[in-house]
Amino acid sequence: MKPTLQFEHHPLLPRVRSTLRGIFGDLRPGERLSPVDQLVRSELGGRTYDEVSWTAFYLLKARFDDWDALIEAGVAEVEPLIADVTYAHAKAVWLVEALKTIKVWRGVLSLDFLGDLPTEVAFRKLRNLMGVGSKVAASVLNFSTFARPILVVDTHVARIAYRLGLVAAVQDLDRAHAELMAVVDPAWDADDLYELHRLMKRHGQETCHALAPSCKTCALADVCPQAASSMRRTAVSKPRSEAEVLSFSRPSVKASSTAG
Ligand code: SF4
Repeated sequence: MKPTLQFEHHPLLPRVRSTLRGIFGDLRPGERLSPVDQLVRSELGGRTYDEVSWTAFYLLKARFDDWDALIEAGVAEVEPLIADVTYAHAKAVWLVEALKTIKVWRGVLSLDFLGDLPTEVAFRKLRNLMGVGSKVAASVLNFSTFARPILVVDTHVARIAYRLGLVAAVQDLDRAHAELMAVVDPAWDADDLYELHRLMKRHGQETCHALAPSCKTCALADVCPQAASSMRRTAVSKPRSEAEVLSFSRPSVKASSTAG
């Protein structure tokens, strides 16, 4: 299934993808989790390093025979197992409540029924679960065995897309997700969008940092509206907040139907 939330694709995205692929190599998906496993994994992942959230996920998998057992155990037993993730108490509550809701929907703890629904409908259904924003909903649909063509937009992806002028929203991940889905190439499949997410995330972690982007060494500087301003500012730098960094230059948001 092709992306169904897009309107016209932006010619810059293929350039971003090919350039970052040249730097980071093949970041195509490996083994995919089941949809419910992916939901649990993604709910643990917010504002938490991957190594920490993966460890917490495997601790839960080792402790509970299945996710029904996690519901029965409740928040008091889940929270200590995920204590190292950010907002552990809130996430323990979200996990228990989200899994309970899934069970209420169909009487079984499975999201397989979403496989019969269009991506947009499944996305909206997932958003009804506690703790599930656009990032988690998209990750369940894209990263899991569903393998749907929907882009996962985290803070790194949103920040880079904003600086490149691809989206107008940066702090609001839901809006950034909608804006990016409106300009992705409709020919890109689930694996392509998975790769784009991974590439942009790596670029955000290694070069396009939130507070001090390394524009001088960035392979995207020639197409980035923010590059010149960032480099000028670096020359007279004083410490600034993330909000200042993100707001000093607001690139135009303009889509095109020209293929890149
Ligand atoms: S030029 Fe600077 S702001 Fe633009 S993508 Fe590269 S690191 Fe980010």
